[in-house]
Amino acid sequence: MDLKDKVVLITGSTRGIGAATAKSFASQGAKTILHGHRQALPENLEEALKAIKADYKYLSADLSDDDTVKQLAKDAWNVFGNIDILINNAGITKDKLMMGMKAADFDAVININLRAPFILSQLIMKKMLKQKSGVIVNLASIVGIHGNVGQANYAASKAGLIGLTKTIAQEGALRGIRCNAVAPGMIESDMTANLSDRVKEQILEKIPLKRLGLTDEVADTIVFLAKNDYITGQTIIVDGGMTI
Ligand code: NAD
Repeated sequence: MDLKDKVVLITGSTRGIGAATAKSFASQGAKTILHGHRQALPENLEEALKAIKADYKYLSADLSDDDTVKQLAKDAWNVFGNIDILINNAGITKDKLMMGMKAADFDAVININLRAPFILSQLIMKKMLKQKSGVIVNLASIVGIHGNVGQANYAASKAGLIGLTKTIAQEGALRGIRCNAVAPGMIESDMTANLSDRVKEQILEKIPLKRLGLTDEVADTIVFLAKNDYITGQTIIVDGGMTI
């Protein structure tokens, strides 16, 4: 698929993997709808988008509420009159060991990481079915495949996203819709920037390629999955070999 003039919506694209993905789509000529829950895009991202002459729009919406997710689907569709590619990227963590995890923190993570992608995909897919084409890429995590201490809520949400991905792929295949997931390992981001040197060293010991991944490396994989017309229902791991 050629991305020129294709319309892409990327949730959680004010920073990190989402922002890198938005820049990558925009630089290949896609009409890019960015989303986040802050009022406006950060200045440096806006400057970067202008520098590549991006055709873009920013929408603010809280994904923890069904009604605002539904409104986002409507608003995003109306920006350019259609959506060709949906990237469910926004995600949060609220880590605690299983025995101390509050049900409210379980729900909060499931709501943003799994329920919002379900509702958004359902509404956007309804319209994609009419145009008989569309691509969805979900941001999972290696934690959704292997689990992780202190992340019962996050692991469950990401495992759920992988199941959702395979189901959308099966249901959408005959109607021109593909759906895939990307499962990153440890990526250099705001989250990992705050880790102590000791924790970073412990993490690097487990990564054969001996470095954290870059947001651009995840973005490249998302764009690849959006463009390749013969891949559907897959989860591509981007983790420097951490889970070999
Ligand atoms: P990030 O924390 O840097 O950015 C998260 C984005 O989600 C922001 O744009 C934020 O505005 C948006 N967001 C958060 N809560 C929201 C809400 N309630 N309503 C609307 N928007 C909201 O994230 P990241 O590190 O770039 O990760 C992106 C995705 O990749 C996430 O789904 C994450 O789980 C997954 N992932 C990241 C890593 C990593 O190492 N960074 C590893 C595996 C998976």
